[in-house]
This record gives sequence, C-alpha cells and structure tokens, in this order.
Amino acid sequence: MLVKTKEVAPSVYGITIPTPFLVGPVNVYIIEGERLTLVDTGVKTEEAKRVLEAELLELDYRFSDIELVILTHHHPDHIGLVEEFDHATIASHEKTKPWLEGDQRFFEQKNDFFRELYTAHGVDENIVALIEKSNAYYLKYTSRIGIDVTLSEGDRIEGLPGWSVIETPGHAQSQISLYRERDGVLISGDHLIAHISSNAIIEAPYKGETERPKTLLQYRDSLKKCLHVKRAFSGHGKPVEDPKALIEERLQKQIEKAKAIKNLLGEETLTSFELCKRLYPQMYTKQPGLTLSETLGHLDLLEEMNEVKAVNENSVYRYCKVD
Ligand SMILES: [Zn+2]
Ligand SMILES: [Zn+2]
Repeated sequence: MLVKTKEVAPSVYGITIPTPFLVGPVNVYIIEGERLTLVDTGVKTEEAKRVLEAELLELDYRFSDIELVILTHHHPDHIGLVEEFDHATIASHEKTKPWLEGDQRFFEQKNDFFRELYTAHGVDENIVALIEKSNAYYLKYTSRIGIDVTLSEGDRIEGLPGWSVIETPGHAQSQISLYRERDGVLISGDHLIAHISSNAIIEAPYKGETERPKTLLQYRDSLKKCLHVKRAFSGHGKPVEDPKALIEERLQKQIEKAKAIKNLLGEETLTSFELCKRLYPQMYTKQPGLTLSETLGHLDLLEEMNEVKAVNENSVYRYCKVD
C-alpha cells in the first residue's frame, strides 16, 4: 500500500515547490474531498512543474486527476501553474479575476493609480521605474485562465464538505483562507506565515472602489478573524502550531513598529518616501514596493491611532506628529 508521508492533517497533503523569488519555496496542498482538490499551484517555471508532477505522482495522482483548483490569492508564486489545470474547476476570490484574465483596463488603471500615489508620496522617479520593472518581472510567472467559481466570506465549497471560506484581505486583496471546522485547520495562503511577517501590500482600488484600501488595517482585522484557528498551513514555511500566539505577537509588533516610525519622525514633517529611506536605508532600492508598503501601512495605522496626521501640501502628503 502506498504510504502517504506528505499528510499534514487528515486528508490534507502538503507539497513544497521551488520559486525563483526571494521568498523561497511555496507550499501547495492536496485535499482529498469529494472532489480531488489542489490549493494553489506554484509558480510558472519548468522546474516548478516538474516538482509538482513528481510530488503528485508520489501521492499516486496526475495533473488530470485534479478536479478542483482553489487559489488563495493572486500572487504568481501561488497561481503560476494554474493553466495546467484547465480541465478542472478553478475557484478563487473575485479579485483574483482581473489578474488571471489579464484584464488590460484593470492593469492600465492600476498603473495610473500607482503613478499618482507615488507622486503624492514623494517617491523618486528612478524608484518608480524600479517598481514598475519588478512588477513586470513577477507577471511573467503567472497564468492566463478564467475563474469558474468565485468564493467569498462564509461560502461552503462544492466538493469539499466541511470546509468554508474566510476572507482574509491585507497581504493581498484577493486573499482567502480555507477553514475546516471539524478540527480547526486553516489553509492560510500568505495570510499567516510562521517565520516571516506577511507584508500588507498596497494595492490599487478594484472595480467599484474609489480609494486604495488601507491594507495594514485590513490585515489586522483579518488576523483577528483567525484567533480561533487550531493549526494553520501556510503558503511558505512550516505550519503555524499556535496561531493565536502568532497573531497576538504580529498585532503587537505592528504597534511597536508604528511607534518606532513615530519616533523616527520626531518633530519633522516628512513624506512617506523620506521615512521609508530612513527606515530601510539598504533595502529601499532593492525592494522598493515592499518597503514603501510597510512604511505607508504603518503610517495609516498611526493615523488611525491619532498619533500622526497627514498634511497635503501642493498635492504631496507629508506626515507629522499629532500634538
Ligand atoms: Zn502572496
Ligand atoms: Zn506567497
């Protein structure tokens, strides 16, 4: 009899796939439900495809056996190989759609939005160019396919009895987690990661929205929604054995980081980009998108705590302490 060593929880199997990205390998999961389900696919490279094929074979499955693919969010390390499963039902959050479908209008509006945002936050032209180059690089590793089923808060999933959807936006606007009530298991995508704090990446408004979501504030709300989880299986790294403790630590660290940013600001009035350079003097040129998201996210948090305020001078936002 085949011994399934990859079983991480009853009927759930973990597979780790290499990516060319800094984040390292990505975890995808097989759930043996009424329909054989793959949660996330790994990135679109030949190497990732080979590894996924070989690992599935160890479980005695082929790509053609997969009946349902659920994508936890739209990032390329999670959706890249989804084209290989065009025979299966593809399910994800509504906001994964424009990314997977390559919606040109969406991409144009997104680019315009970010140009304006960066100008309003005092970001240098050369850094904007770096961010655009890096975005284009990541998009190479993604797939083009339609979504058959859109998933939202509380949805039960056909073919996966006992599992339901928790919307957990923050890291990505499309981020969902899958929860199994019977044993409190969560497949969390990048919402909860044991060894790194997930970046609450700034995104443009989606269809029907007019303003950018305040992603760190959203992320904190999404963390609080998962305090009851018993065990979480992440998109990267090891399982989270004590989700409540990790969530409380993350929430606390965000407050501490926000306060450190307030101290850095001192009595000055600075743009978020000026603060970003002081916070990440080495990293801001290497990972400009992520470091700006971190800075702006924590400034949003400080504003919400009424610790700093933003003043708009000649269409540029500058932050200062609230007296
Ligand atoms: Zn991600
Ligand atoms: Zn990821």
